[in-house]
Amino acid sequence: MALNLVMLGPPGAGKGTQAEQIAKARGIPKISTGDILRAAVHNGTEIGERANDIMARGDLVSDDVMIGIIRERLGQKDADKGFILDGFPRTVAQAAALDEIVKGRDPLVVVEIVVPESELERRLSMRMVCDSCGATADAAAGKAGGRLVQRSDDNDRVVLERLKVYHQRTQPLVEYYQMRPTFRSVNGLQPPDRVAADLIAAIESAGRGVAAKGVRP
Ligand code: ADP
Repeated sequence: MALNLVMLGPPGAGKGTQAEQIAKARGIPKISTGDILRAAVHNGTEIGERANDIMARGDLVSDDVMIGIIRERLGQKDADKGFILDGFPRTVAQAAALDEIVKGRDPLVVVEIVVPESELERRLSMRMVCDSCGATADAAAGKAGGRLVQRSDDNDRVVLERLKVYHQRTQPLVEYYQMRPTFRSVNGLQPPDRVAADLIAAIESAGRGVAAKGVRP
């Protein structure tokens, strides 16, 4: 069965880092809408130009644009054998569109990483990225030769805005997905390797649920 994974969780929960590892282990693409948008900004594309201000103030890029990006990306060959979505969906409209896009494929496995608010604020105010490739310090360690800088949307005011937007627009997705037999939550307030182990267990158990019940969305 293909692993069609949605990583859900607030900014700073560690989704990106975890998604990267699972993608590598499974040999499937990690699709991060934050990375796609940052690359678009970096390359000065039309979408990038529109997204720049929106991202800088911690707001969400429009559903139409994001759904278009994901529809196109999931249509590429390498996503046939599974994928990991990091940062999408972020609204109920995006989630509904995703269900339609993946119709006929193996069911989505949705894993939420849960982290308390105070810890998120602490992590986000510290997060550093490579100013050349935009990868996080953990992932990149300055590999692209750029300096490690604080991500421009990670200043305090914007951090709080992003958390607010998360609670208002993205948190409702837990309700959208939680009745599905393929939904799982893991505790993100643990060392990364413990979170990783819990995620692997959650994904396996979600997969068994599907196999047992023959569930299709
Ligand atoms: P984080 O990793 O902190 O959750 P991302 O790197 O995923 O943040 O996203 C950075 C910014 O890109 C978001 O604050 C938002 O402005 C924009 N963005 C990313 N994904 C989406 C999406 N699915 N819908 C709307 N905006 C998005």
